[in-house]
This record gives sequence, structure tokens and C-alpha cells, in this order.
Amino acid sequence: MARPLVADIDLDALRHNYALARGLAGDSQALAVIKADAYGHGAVACARALESLPEGERPPAFAVACLEEAEALRLGGIESPIVLLEGIFEAAELARVEALGLWMAVHSEWQLQALLEHRPARPIPVWVKVDSGMHRLGFAPEQVESVWQRLAAVPEYATGLQLMSHFATADAVDAGYFETQLERMRDLAQRLKAPLCLANSPATLAWPQSHGSWVRPGVMLYGSDPLERPSEASRRLQPVMTLRSEIIALRDLAEGEPVGYAGRWRAPRPSRIAVVACGYGDGYDRHAVDGTPVLVAGRCTAIAGKVSMDMLTVDVTDIPEARIGSEVILWGRSRHGAVLSVDEVARHCDTISYTLLTGVLPRVPRRYH
Ligand code: PLP
Repeated sequence: MARPLVADIDLDALRHNYALARGLAGDSQALAVIKADAYGHGAVACARALESLPEGERPPAFAVACLEEAEALRLGGIESPIVLLEGIFEAAELARVEALGLWMAVHSEWQLQALLEHRPARPIPVWVKVDSGMHRLGFAPEQVESVWQRLAAVPEYATGLQLMSHFATADAVDAGYFETQLERMRDLAQRLKAPLCLANSPATLAWPQSHGSWVRPGVMLYGSDPLERPSEASRRLQPVMTLRSEIIALRDLAEGEPVGYAGRWRAPRPSRIAVVACGYGDGYDRHAVDGTPVLVAGRCTAIAGKVSMDMLTVDVTDIPEARIGSEVILWGRSRHGAVLSVDEVARHCDTISYTLLTGVLPRVPRRYH
């Protein structure tokens, strides 16, 4: 029998979450962010599942970070428009952008020069990325008018020309900085009469005033709730990935016996420990503290001891039905119906769901349903 560790991907849940995002977007179009291999879920499989939705219900475009990701999607048969969120990394990539019919962000002067020197034979819709306050990529607001005019003068770039920016704090309850960024973008959009694409998942969920012509949700499509304070809508998200394993060994320990490297966990009473086939060599976070939740046979229990490369250990003293072969859910949905959210696991690892989901390594087979 194969090692019992698999990432089950529920494509119906993905379609459900996309429909939720599309509903929240209202009159705005909702593209689907599927960069980083669809946040670890498999970009081609996820794009195919979303493309298979009926006309009017499917994403009008996908977004990835770079050309290589878009090429993999085209090779996988994905025909929808694909936006490169970081544009190109060298001028020579423009020929591929054009040949593959991609759209692209432009965030710097050298990218703009490369575009203006390139003579496209067909339209390349360009999204001008503005640094409205994230201070990562993008043109400063005062540069945008001239960038916009230079691009608008080239008919192949003028088609689909719009402004985009990224929020630094849309997940937070405090709207202060979010509103500062939004105001800067609204001001620019009004002056240039430009369409806007601003909203990531938290803004799609919580800030309808930011929706503009396009929204750009990522993590919510995979069922993770990015909001500091969950909303009625975010509670309706369904987990897409279930990281599923089994118990491969059981140990009965006397009170005071240590478990695993450095003996971090010590049995506080006579205890039963289950060894589970999943470790940091599979992408499970090594920073998971004792007490990190795990579902065993549909019941919630906790990590006991440091995570190893190929296995981790769980306290099953209070789960008498635990056997070798019992189901263990590291996050996602148990066959027994219980759900353990990746967000809750992330909190115990002092990280965010994004790193857990994108961190599941190729050793873990993805199984699509
Ligand atoms: N837009 C850009 C430019 C991004 O970098 C990201 C993700 O990092 C997204 C949209 C999607 O963000 P989220 O996954 O929070 O919805």
C-alpha cells in the first residue's frame, strides 16, 4: 500500500467559493488568482474546473505572477485570458506574452519602455500598477498620468487599459489605511476616467466600495478566510484542500515520558500517542506547537511533540477508537463530516494559510474530486 498521505482537492468547493466571490462582486468582473500553482492546489486542474462552468458563471480571466505560470496553463489547454500580475521580467518575454494572448501589469519604467519599443501585431491589454501605499511594486500616483497617456496612444495597449493597485491592510478591522489607499486610487481613476482593479480576497469579501471594474480574489477561492473578523459571507467559504493521512503506529507511554526530538512534549498522564505519516518534508509546518489541532477519526485532538521530516505525533489518549489506519486530517474535511480550517492550523504555527497551502510539497499526491 502507498504511503497514506494525500491532498484531496474538492473542485466543487472551488466552484462554490468562486460563485460566492462572483456574487459579492456584483457588476464587477471577478478574475481568479491561480498563481503559485493555484496556492498549492494545482493550477491547471483548478483552471479547468473553473473554465468548465457555464458561460457567464466562469471567471472571465485568470491571474498568475509570471510568464512561466501562464505558459503552463496554456500547455494545459487553458484558453481564457491570463493576467501577469508582475508583468515581464525581461523585454524578450514580450514576444511570448503576445503569442500566448496574455494580459499584463506594468509596474516600472523599464517595463513601460519595453512595451513602447515592442511593436505588437495584436492587442496586449495592459494594467498600470500603482503604488497606492503598499510600497512594493508600481508607479507613484504622480507618475501615473504620463504612463497612462503613453500607453493610451498605442491602440494595441489601449484596449483593456486600466489601473490596478494592491491593498496592504484590507484584512484588518481598522479601515484607516485601506481608505487612504482607496481614496488615492479613486482620485486617479476619476482624473483619467480609468477602470479600476483593486480588490483581493479580503476587499472582495468586506469592502464593496473597492470593487471597481474587476476584483482579484485568491485565497478565498481555496476556502481560507482572510478576514481578521470573519463576515457572514466568509463563513460560507468551503475548504478546497484536505490534507489527509493515517495513523501508522501507536505508543503507550507512562506519565513523564518524552515524545520526539528534544523531548518537547512529555506525557502529563499515562498517554497514547499516534504516529502520523506527514511531516515537514511534506510541507507541514515544523513550527506547529503542542496543541495544534488535528482530527483523528473525525475528533479533534492535538499535536504532541515536534514535527519530524516524515511524521508527526498526536495525543490520542481520549480517542479510544484510534487504530493503525485511522483517518487523520491535518486540515480540511474529515470523512466523518468534521472540518478543521487551515486558518486555525496556521494560527498555531504563527503563520498564515497562504504559506501552509502553497507549502505542500510535490511528494504529496493531489487527488481531484
Ligand atoms: N493581487 C495581487 C497583486 C496579489 O499579489 C495577490 C496575492 O498575493 C492577490 C491579488 C490575491 O490576494 P488574496 O489571495 O489575498 O486574495
